[in-house]
Amino acid sequence: MPELPEVETVRASLEPAVVGRRFERVEIADPRLTRPLDPMEVAAELDGEVVESLARRGKYLVFRFRSGRALLIHLRMTGSLGHHRNGTLAADPHRRAVVRLDDGSDVTYRDVRRFGTWLLLEPGEDAPYLTERLGEEPLEAGFTTQALAERLSGRRAPVKAAILDQRAAAGMGNIYADEALWRARIHPLTPAGELSRPEIRRLHRGIKEALRAGIERQGTTLRDYRTPSGVRGSMQGELRVYGRDDEPCLRCGTPIAKTRIAGRGTWYCPTCQPPPA
Ligand SMILES: [Zn+2]
Repeated sequence: MPELPEVETVRASLEPAVVGRRFERVEIADPRLTRPLDPMEVAAELDGEVVESLARRGKYLVFRFRSGRALLIHLRMTGSLGHHRNGTLAADPHRRAVVRLDDGSDVTYRDVRRFGTWLLLEPGEDAPYLTERLGEEPLEAGFTTQALAERLSGRRAPVKAAILDQRAAAGMGNIYADEALWRARIHPLTPAGELSRPEIRRLHRGIKEALRAGIERQGTTLRDYRTPSGVRGSMQGELRVYGRDDEPCLRCGTPIAKTRIAGRGTWYCPTCQPPPA
């Protein structure tokens, strides 16, 4: 599933292709993308919108239009966006939507498992929608140690589960949560509300460092994820702990262990990340 670094890579890659461009013709082929709204109606509403900016909040891509409306795209499991310059598209059974831009190029949306969503919001609706669902952006100034401490305070859930909550750290997912906890030397089962101040400081830094490393390498491609130009990310070769069961810890050499927390595969170093007392 694309997490913050993957969505940010998509945003940065697509931004120069779409900002200032008009949506000339929008085709949405999959009713699941826009439900409960009719995809034909949403497509008709999008026709003629001019892109003011392309932002990211958590794992949402946010197309803001000059009209004040916003289109929120969530890629979920296997969604991806592409940009095709000359407008000649090869057939693709998994393509769910095509936006023809006013320079003749196409933005395509492909989704094998079809969990992705497109939500068109009226002016003023996007900020409350996003604020309700998401905490601070981990790479922006508002994400302080104090803010993280407040989000985790009183939580009895394992810290791994707590930081997957999008209100704790917007955009976190399974891969970067494990990477952040390894960097912070915190066992993933530690109750979130019991972290000491130094541990929260390490976690805060670990989250930021893990996400920045992912962005620098254009994200992690384990299976489906590609950038809009079709390139694979390269973070999968740089992961410190995620998916490395039985391989030596890069810090101490202990074989990496795997467990399940909140239903998610979880990797950690039993030595560097000692279990909670
Ligand atoms: Zn270790």
